[in-house]
Amino acid sequence: MQRKRVLITGAAGFLGSHLCDRFIKENYHVIGMDNLITGDLKNIEHLFKLENFEFYNCDVSKFVHVPGELNYILHFASPASPIDYLKIPIQTLKVGSLGTHNLLGLAKAKQARILVASTSEVYGDPLVHPQNEDYWGNVNPIGPRGVYDEAKRFQEAITMAYHTYHGLETRIVRIFNTYGPRMRLNDGRVLPAFIGQALRGEDLTMFGDGSQTRSFCYVDDLVEGIYRLLLSDYHLPVNIGNPDEITIKEFGEEILKLTGANQKLISKPLPVDDPKQRKPDITRAKEILGWQPKVNRSEGLKITYEYFKNLPKEILFDSRHKFE
Ligand code: UDP
Repeated sequence: MQRKRVLITGAAGFLGSHLCDRFIKENYHVIGMDNLITGDLKNIEHLFKLENFEFYNCDVSKFVHVPGELNYILHFASPASPIDYLKIPIQTLKVGSLGTHNLLGLAKAKQARILVASTSEVYGDPLVHPQNEDYWGNVNPIGPRGVYDEAKRFQEAITMAYHTYHGLETRIVRIFNTYGPRMRLNDGRVLPAFIGQALRGEDLTMFGDGSQTRSFCYVDDLVEGIYRLLLSDYHLPVNIGNPDEITIKEFGEEILKLTGANQKLISKPLPVDDPKQRKPDITRAKEILGWQPKVNRSEGLKITYEYFKNLPKEILFDSRHKFE
C-alpha cells in the first residue's frame, strides 16, 4: 500500500522534529521543510537514513514547491519565543502571513488537508481565565510580541477564509506552553533558561516577582493532540495544552529541586506585555478529540532534564548557546 504523504514545515525545530518522528512512526512518507534560521538539523539527523523521509531547505515565506502528491500539510515553521521575535521580527511576521498563504495555496493545489500551528498568544494578556476558544483575546499589536501574535491571528483568519471560500480542509491548533527534549538552550524560554542556568551553576533569572503563571504541556501529549486534530473533521480552533497552572517562581523552585542546584532565584525586569496568567480550557479537545494530557510535570521535567544534562559541555557553556 502506498504511504500517505505529509509535508511538515519547521521540521528541524522543537515541535516540528517531534511531529516528523510521530508521522514516521505511523508509517507516513514525511517531507520535512525548514530554512534553519531557528531550527537545527541535529533534531532530525536520525531520520535522514530512512527511505520515507526527505528534507528541503526552503524559506516558505518566499515560495513552496513540493513535487508529487500531498495528503496533509502541517505548518509549524515560525520563530516561537519572545527572544526570537525580538531578533527577527520581520521573518516572524512573514512566515505567519506570507508563509501561511503559500502553504494554503499548496494545499489547495494538491487537495491536501492543512493544519496550522496557532498559539495561546492569540489571547494576548488574557482577561478571561482559563482561556477557551471563544475568547477573542487582548493583544497589543504594536508591542514586542505583536509581530508573533498578529501574524498568528492573521494566520487563523486566512486559514478560515480558505476553508469558507475555497472549501479547503483546514485545522487550527492553539498551542500553549510546551516543553521537552530538543528545545533550544538559548531560545530564551523559561525552561531551557532555568535548566541551562542550573547546570552552569548560575542563579536562575526570574522575570518580575515570578507571580505570573503558565501551564506547561509535555511535548508527547501535544503531538498526540495535534495528531488527533489532524485526523478529526473539526475545522474550528482547538486549544491543546496542559491546564496544570504554576507560577514562574514555583516553577523555578521545582527546577532547583530537580537539578539539586545550590543557586537561588534572582529577579530581572519583567518583559513588556508579558502575560500575567495563562491556562488552557481544554473542554473542546476533550469533547471532540477525546484528548487530555497524560504526562505530569515531574515526569516530563525529569525526561527533559536528562536531555539537557547529556548535551555536550561545549554546547552548554558556549556563549552562543547561552541566553542572556
Ligand atoms: N521567564 C523568566 N525567566 C527567564 C525566561 C522567562 O522568568 O529566564 C518568564 C517570562 O517572563 C514568562 C514566563 O517565564 O512570564 C514564560 O516565558 P517563556 O518565554 O517561556 O514563554 P511565554 O512568555 O511565551 O509564555
